[in-house]
Amino acid sequence: MHNSTDFRIGNYRPIYLWAGPGTIRMNKLKFMQVDVDENVHQEAHQFTGAALVVNDLYQNWIHLTYSWGFPPEIEQEDWQSFENATCEYHKLGAKVFAYIQSSNCVYSGSFKDKNWYAITPKGKKVYYYTGRYMTCFQNNGWINYLKERIQDAISRGADGIFFDNLWYGLQPNALFRTWLGAAGCYCTACQEKYYQETGKRMPTLMDLQKKEVLDYIEWRSQSMTQVIQQLSDFARSLKSDVIISANDYDPVMRPVKLIFGIDFPSLAKIQDVTMIENFALPKWEESQPKILVNNTLTVRNTQPYLPHQKHLSVLSYDAGIGFDPVYPSRRILTGMAEAAALGCSMTTKGTEYHDGKKMTLLTAPEYGEQQKAIGNLHHWLQDHQSIYQSQTKRVASVGFLHPGDPLWQNWFQIAPLYFACQQTLLAAGIPWRTITDDKDLDEIRHLIVFENLQQPEKLPHELSIIKAYEFSSWKTFSQSFFDHHPGLKNILSEIADNLIRGYHANKSLRKLMDWMGMSKLVTHTPFFTLPPQEFQNELLNKIDLQKVIRVISEHPVLIDVWKNKSDGLHIHLVNYHAQKQVIKLKIPDNSILTVISPDQQTQEMQITSDTAMLELDLYSICLLENK
Ligand SMILES: [Zn+2]
Repeated sequence: MHNSTDFRIGNYRPIYLWAGPGTIRMNKLKFMQVDVDENVHQEAHQFTGAALVVNDLYQNWIHLTYSWGFPPEIEQEDWQSFENATCEYHKLGAKVFAYIQSSNCVYSGSFKDKNWYAITPKGKKVYYYTGRYMTCFQNNGWINYLKERIQDAISRGADGIFFDNLWYGLQPNALFRTWLGAAGCYCTACQEKYYQETGKRMPTLMDLQKKEVLDYIEWRSQSMTQVIQQLSDFARSLKSDVIISANDYDPVMRPVKLIFGIDFPSLAKIQDVTMIENFALPKWEESQPKILVNNTLTVRNTQPYLPHQKHLSVLSYDAGIGFDPVYPSRRILTGMAEAAALGCSMTTKGTEYHDGKKMTLLTAPEYGEQQKAIGNLHHWLQDHQSIYQSQTKRVASVGFLHPGDPLWQNWFQIAPLYFACQQTLLAAGIPWRTITDDKDLDEIRHLIVFENLQQPEKLPHELSIIKAYEFSSWKTFSQSFFDHHPGLKNILSEIADNLIRGYHANKSLRKLMDWMGMSKLVTHTPFFTLPPQEFQNELLNKIDLQKVIRVISEHPVLIDVWKNKSDGLHIHLVNYHAQKQVIKLKIPDNSILTVISPDQQTQEMQITSDTAMLELDLYSICLLENK
């Protein structure tokens, strides 16, 4: 096993760097003959590119393209390129993850003869972007092919295996607050396995009011977890210290167990280091209504489900792969600072950018400013890692009781309320944490609950329960019209399915739908929009803010408070506003604060009137010693 301090803030500095010949080819396939900056994609696999990434950006775990899922006769040059690149990165002391596309493959050459494709209840293959189809996680031919890739990647020098897209077959789509289409794979192998194990037939309509459907969704995610366990065991049998990681796609802001078959808590147990990809690169938009995109919701709702000491990293997009230009430095730094404040790392997005003309990488010469900024913050985080390592637990007086399975099962009813409450407190500068175990209530004074079934048994008497579902300013959505009309729902499913197939198969239809911003319907979450002011007030009025350490500011500031080993407090402050602002920090009288920051001189402050005025640029940590 690895040394557990390898995967800590400041020590673990990963980057997505899909490059080399395979990525050039994949970009052209996925984005229908888009222009690609081929030089910069080749250079990232050579010494000059490696030196820039390792020395200047100061990354030490490089996610390199190994297998995009092209047939071997095409892909073998990618495997060789991976081996050459790995050698260059190893020379510089960095380690390498081999990227393995796990749930789909390119439909060309020898792969056209394979019988391993996932199929719909009507016997059609399932698209994964363009030119690719989903494969079946019960098909032995496919599993054995993945094992071959793992073995070959390790023999070519991989230090870690990174499984991408743990998605099992067909994904239902949300429209008009209902789930359209089937979920999973309906090939003979899947149908037989399901029948053998449960004695039932696989449901094809995702009516979540039915127990047989919920049982099926559980079965699908458990089956995929078993396969990933099997593949990881295989990798470890070849190389005992191999590091296993995966793209644990967006497990908080969307109901991934239902859509993809992802059960994050069980997958996290298998991985040495977890990685969440999502569309949450921090951004504060003072539009009407106001939008606060952030990773705080994702991280705080994920960490309680992680096994002890297991590290999390996040990688966030703005509009998405193939749409985003390289982000301005300030946004990248806000993402890195936010992650550190929350006790995790940000995986640098080094690849799959589109600059308006062509696909490019963060390593291209025109992004020198971003490269320097990332390198500087990495050095700062490494120099200050002892701060993070001494932190023992998050402290907050407000807790959100996680609804558990009812959250994904009643997504259209519970999720909007759940996230509206969390966004309200985040934007108001009030620390909070997610409670998944009602014995874990230390320091909690207000517990917010989301449905009447959520009644913890023995509650400390000083705890106040806030029933968010009873707020007069909130209207819970009723069941969808289509849930009561299965015939119409089937017709709607057909239409949606045809649109999606058209998007992937037809270039002019894709252009039209991109122009209409339709892909954002799938990628973007509505939950970053702040709820109406009336709702925010109703919630905030129920919270006793006496003696609560919090921030008062014009623009939102993340505050995350952690206890350290000697019972002192670390107050992390991250500015969501793109410019400096002067903020008020409410803290106990007579405190002595040491404020450290990557962009300002360290200062010591004596607090005389329960308020500290601070100029916050990007990120400050206030150390408050226990007296
Ligand atoms: Zn199948």
